[in-house]
Amino acid sequence: MKLEIRNVTKLFKGKIAVNNFSMEMQSGECVGLIGPNGAGKSTLIKVISDIINSDAGEVLLNGKKISKMKREIGYLPQYPNFFHWMTARETLTFMGQLSGLKKEVLTNLIPEILTKVGLTGEENSKVGTFSGGMKQRLGIAQALLHKPSLIVMDEPVSALDPIGRREVLNLIEEIKKDTSILLSTHILSDAEEICERFVIIKDGTKIEDTTITELLNRNSENKLIVEITAKDQKWIDVVKKLPYVKGVEVIGLKVKIKVENIEKNKNILLKNALEHKVDIVKFEMNNDTLEEIFLELVMQK
Ligand code: ADP
Ligand code: MG
Repeated sequence: MKLEIRNVTKLFKGKIAVNNFSMEMQSGECVGLIGPNGAGKSTLIKVISDIINSDAGEVLLNGKKISKMKREIGYLPQYPNFFHWMTARETLTFMGQLSGLKKEVLTNLIPEILTKVGLTGEENSKVGTFSGGMKQRLGIAQALLHKPSLIVMDEPVSALDPIGRREVLNLIEEIKKDTSILLSTHILSDAEEICERFVIIKDGTKIEDTTITELLNRNSENKLIVEITAKDQKWIDVVKKLPYVKGVEVIGLKVKIKVENIEKNKNILLKNALEHKVDIVKFEMNNDTLEEIFLELVMQK
């Protein structure tokens, strides 16, 4: 499997939803497409899955146009449309037939796929009785029916409660073993758990294509977190003027201080605090979390 997205642009009534977006993906990869609401994730995913056409650019799978390779791709929409009065088996039969699979083939495939997504025993239950996590697993079953080499999932866990989220994340871990995965989310921590590679999209434009490790390393800037009491807030003005302090961010009683040469200056800063009779509640070295890095990226560029 090789997916190539080349200079894809999509407009809605003249407004750009996806802007000259390119990326490649190889077999065995799990890629998180991350971006805030309205970034263009669903639009891009629909172009990749050949649900809508782009205005410019192209999507190739194994070197061939995606419209000719639909059998190789499974798509889980952000809002799957199920008929609540259908059973799980009826749903999969209906959707399987829509995607061109024969009824006889489906009779064999459906029990196998229901087992895979952990819905054995539920084949005759009505979808209307399913929890959010079960519905989403049925959606994944639908996307896997024709055994695609790539599955594309649009916000597969964003709308779920913690239990449903756990069920679906565990299932995705399983699928990952034999299928390449592209999933979108606006919640970084959802992707953090399963994908090593992140592609960040904002206002339709790709702003990052990186790995968790690289992101964390790049941002392992030297910061000290000092928690002080309310009476010592005036010390912050002293800190701001220190020559080795590069930045100060105040969050409640916490002061995040970016310093040069942290090893040397952390003790000097501590000494300064003591000289000013600052009551220290907490004093620690800290790296930005992925969530903080993500926010910074999405807010800035
Ligand atoms: P995301 O999935 O990242 O939240 P979308 O791809 O749904 O973002 O939307 C990207 C932009 O395109 C948004 O500004 C949205 O309002 C617009 N958009 C999406 N679908 C349509 C549509 N069918 N008609 C008009 N505008 C749309
Ligand atoms: Mg969306």
